[in-house]
Amino acid sequence: MTPGARAEKGDLLVREGRIARLGVLEASETGGVPCLDASGCAVLPGLVQTHLHLCQTLFRGLAEGLDLLSWLATRVLPLEAAHDEASMRASAELAALELLLGGTTAVLTMESVRHAELVVDVLEASGLHGATGRCLVDREEGAPAGFARSKEAELEETVALGRRIQARHGGRIGFAFNPRFALSCSEGLLREGTLAARELGARLHTHCAESPHEIARVREETGLSNVAYLHEVGLTGPDVTLAHCVHLSPEDLRTLAGTGTHVAHCPSSNLKLGSGIAPVSELLHGGIGVSLGADGAACNNELDAFQEMRLMGLLAGVRSGPGSVSPRQVLEAATVKGAAALGRRDVGTLEPGLRANLTVVDLTGPHVQPLGEEEDPERIETALVYSARGGDVRATVIDGRILVRDRVVAHLDRERILARAREERRRLLSRAGIS
Ligand SMILES: [Zn+2]
Repeated sequence: MTPGARAEKGDLLVREGRIARLGVLEASETGGVPCLDASGCAVLPGLVQTHLHLCQTLFRGLAEGLDLLSWLATRVLPLEAAHDEASMRASAELAALELLLGGTTAVLTMESVRHAELVVDVLEASGLHGATGRCLVDREEGAPAGFARSKEAELEETVALGRRIQARHGGRIGFAFNPRFALSCSEGLLREGTLAARELGARLHTHCAESPHEIARVREETGLSNVAYLHEVGLTGPDVTLAHCVHLSPEDLRTLAGTGTHVAHCPSSNLKLGSGIAPVSELLHGGIGVSLGADGAACNNELDAFQEMRLMGLLAGVRSGPGSVSPRQVLEAATVKGAAALGRRDVGTLEPGLRANLTVVDLTGPHVQPLGEEEDPERIETALVYSARGGDVRATVIDGRILVRDRVVAHLDRERILARAREERRRLLSRAGIS
């Protein structure tokens, strides 16, 4: 996914977790090296998703037919508030299993106000790369009792968690500072939190300009557009990823471009909550880094990066005309642009020296064929975006470790994770008083 690079037939040699060489390898180079047969497959840089809530995976199918603000107030926040340690772990484990099987190798996630450290544990055990952290909420309106706390308490807990994450993971998993959205936080929390997070070297990540109601409320309270308000409090810049950005003015586009702010496009979520269609073609023309995210199982209802790629291309066609966004641009959003949003230069492309994070996609299924091994690279890109599915991922490799082989996760207990998810969801619903 480097500029100008195209699909080529060949081998990829991994040494000590990094890509050592691309091309046709000699027998002398491969002797004694474990081999992953990828014939009939495309080998992509590991897919990256830059807007996810692992804590919401147990809520799959439980928050249907609602717009954003009612979805949050009546289902998602009460369910998040009902999480205990066991349900949070079960939710994150189910997400990690689904993500790895679908070829996702790195994530930027926003977790709930409590138990976020368990998600860090799960990410670490799963092998995924990324950044994560708790969400911040210091305004009670629209939140269940006890969910919002004082600005001081929110800052203290978040900074303490950020310090622990940064100390513990040394690069593979970093700290994400996640104010939930403009309406859930006081201006003081946004300003002070942003400064504190930058001191810790965090990635900054929030929701922005998602639904018309939300945007109208932000304007009522601040007199500004959502982007302008976040810019005003310091939440723009190359270390910031704003999820959604569905409704933007020309001035907002200039602000995002001028500050180097990243946008996480979440097309399934935008369709499910009826939020609208993001101006992806305008964002790309403005030079803004666009990456992709499935958001959460509560508004998607799956975490399949291939679905998001396909919808990115299709919806850009509806909004700006067919062909306005190329398959190549979609693949970049799911790989190198996602890595950039995470502030990572050691993943996102297939180049010697970078970490060997790879997504191996089987292109031999009837829904992808006919496609030969000598096919035009552009047709392979088209097949990956418009024909391939998460279920076509044959292998997922992270740091050179084959974590998924022949569609089986070796290092996680699939049946135990699924059984625990069912059991913990039953308990969660009873705690939340939802039938
Ligand atoms: Zn979200």
